[in-house]
Amino acid sequence: MKNNLPDKDGFFGEYGGKFVPETLMFALNELEQTYTKLKENNDFNSEFHKDLTEFVGRPSPLYFAKRLTEFYNSGSIWLKREDLNHTGAHKINNTVGQILLAKYMGKKRIIAETGAGQHGVATATVAARLGLDCHIYMGSEDVKRQSLNVYRMKLLGAEVHEVNSGSATLKDALNEALRDWVTNIEDTYYIIGSVTGPHPYPMIVRDFNAVVGYELIEQSQKSFGRMPDSIVACVGGGSNAMGIFYPFIDMKDVELIGVEAAGKGIETGEHAAPLNDGSPGVLHGAKSYLMQDENGQVRGTASISAGLDYPGVGPEHSWLKDIKRAKYVAVSDDQVMKAFHMVNKMEGILPALETAHAFAYLDDLMPTMKKDQHIVINVSGRGDKDLNSVVEIEDIQL
Ligand SMILES: *Cc1c(COP(=O)(O)O)cnc(C)c1O
Repeated sequence: MKNNLPDKDGFFGEYGGKFVPETLMFALNELEQTYTKLKENNDFNSEFHKDLTEFVGRPSPLYFAKRLTEFYNSGSIWLKREDLNHTGAHKINNTVGQILLAKYMGKKRIIAETGAGQHGVATATVAARLGLDCHIYMGSEDVKRQSLNVYRMKLLGAEVHEVNSGSATLKDALNEALRDWVTNIEDTYYIIGSVTGPHPYPMIVRDFNAVVGYELIEQSQKSFGRMPDSIVACVGGGSNAMGIFYPFIDMKDVELIGVEAAGKGIETGEHAAPLNDGSPGVLHGAKSYLMQDENGQVRGTASISAGLDYPGVGPEHSWLKDIKRAKYVAVSDDQVMKAFHMVNKMEGILPALETAHAFAYLDDLMPTMKKDQHIVINVSGRGDKDLNSVVEIEDIQL
């Protein structure tokens, strides 16, 4: 009932692959072989699911958004509540899975890159639980913008390395983490935070997040007796979207919609929407759509939400776009802020600014839906982390 991609070389159609130096090839092959074996291993799977249940708090509820539904008056809106997970987002699904891979591989040192700090926190959390040495790479710009998350990682015992190169943000942190991995390949496990990077990462991160989509199949059946008509998720690197889309790829009646960050507007060029305004190229070890100029230089990004502020996107999304199985749209910062307030006021839920992108698309989507249809929004995370940004953006005096 689902696609069997990537192929053995890690490609989804023409996207993905392993565009890395020889030294990393060995580590990637080792990871792929281990994962292929463990995926079928009962002990590994029951340990993963036990951790998801008892540490993360799964399954996350499928919640009926009554007032939003009444407001749009054209179809039932349901929320898949990943914001209720431990540490506040879907990212923990992946780090709980990958730290188990590290454990089974006997790796004692964990590294990760982080942008807003959410993946850094999710990684430091699972490393603390297993008592592993943890190093997080983070651009110095982001360190400034997200000081509370930096403190949180330190509380969890991780060492945070500031990266000053380039634009001193996520893509530079990723370069630095890859460099660390090349140097310390023997004892180090690299936990990538989205469905990006070289094969096998896009596959592994998708599989660990797919628990969200599998739960949704059961919950939809129970809540409204059939599968949803549309599933909407925000897309940064694409892991929360891929996790909820994946089990539905072969159910052709279920519309899959990814929402990118249009920032100040696609037409201004100041955005973070490679699937809407990008072209295929190679970044961070894989071929995918990315934001680049005529000379192949990566373009700067802009988004109100740090978690979507990335010039690339996972290769499987590029493939789903080209074969037209999923549709990728974009919403602007202004639309996002409007949706952010609406969800707070109407549902009593404080969504992450990333997640508010998915909600913002309801203004376009709902007028096209019928009353007996069902729409699911993947509520990828909670917005407590964003309150400082919101106060600043709206120039609120506390
Ligand atoms: C990191 C993050 C995202 C973006 O990452 P994806 O890999 O695209 O899912 C979205 N929502 C929240 C809450 C996040 O923390």
